[in-house]
Amino acid sequence: MSDFNPLQKYFRQPKIYVSLPSKGLYYAPGSFQGDYNSVPIMAMTGIDEIVMRTPDALFNGEAAYKVIESCCPYIKDAKSVPSIDIDTLLMAIKIATFGPTLRIDQTCPHCQHENEYELDLNALIEHFKTQKFVNHLEIDQNLSIKIRPLTFEQANYFGVENFKLQKTALQAQNIEDEDAKTTTVNQIFSDLSELQLTLLLASIESVQVDNTTVTDQTHIITWLKNMEREIFDLIKNKLEDNKNNWSAPDQEVQCGNCQTASTVKPVLDQSNFFV
Ligand SMILES: [Zn+2]
Repeated sequence: MSDFNPLQKYFRQPKIYVSLPSKGLYYAPGSFQGDYNSVPIMAMTGIDEIVMRTPDALFNGEAAYKVIESCCPYIKDAKSVPSIDIDTLLMAIKIATFGPTLRIDQTCPHCQHENEYELDLNALIEHFKTQKFVNHLEIDQNLSIKIRPLTFEQANYFGVENFKLQKTALQAQNIEDEDAKTTTVNQIFSDLSELQLTLLLASIESVQVDNTTVTDQTHIITWLKNMEREIFDLIKNKLEDNKNNWSAPDQEVQCGNCQTASTVKPVLDQSNFFV
């Protein structure tokens, strides 16, 4: 059997090229290969689409990893993609497969008319391109932190764990026995703060103290557990700021019936990815 496949000219080709907001930084060695400024994106295959249509597959877990690696050949390990590149990549895959329109349904707050708005994904990709990830936090003259974005895998993990805890918290409301309820609620608080600590640790690349760079995770987590609340909040708020900068900005829209202006959140989800 020859290696040449006569069907090769009918293989899918890149449909668009995007520039990664991370500028190729924060990737583990070998997990990204190519020019970050011109990343070829191919349309999904039929198999990709089946994988992506499984419930909740879009933003967490194996399905999204598989499809990103399938449509973005420069990406060798989707789990280690910095989370700041994920929206751009998924939007680009949607553009390559279904076109640049993002449909968002929203009921008018004024007249209750059901509007279907059409947003342009290319504009959102342009927006993400101009965002800058702030990776340095100075606490005082002798103490500063180098921050890094979560990987896609970490972001998924924290999303899922947080969701589980919120669900347990809701269920705890229905526990009739007061002692059992208190025990459960205390456990939730303890798990939440543990999760928060792990999130902080995952977001810190190193700590610069005097002339020493600390990268030892055990040292950093012990410091996190023993630091003044002000410093803890400072770090938490900086991570929050970064997170907000990396969510797509609300878009102004106008009701088709009563012309009242309002805003919509351009969220790519299971309901609008495939149209
Ligand atoms: Zn209206």
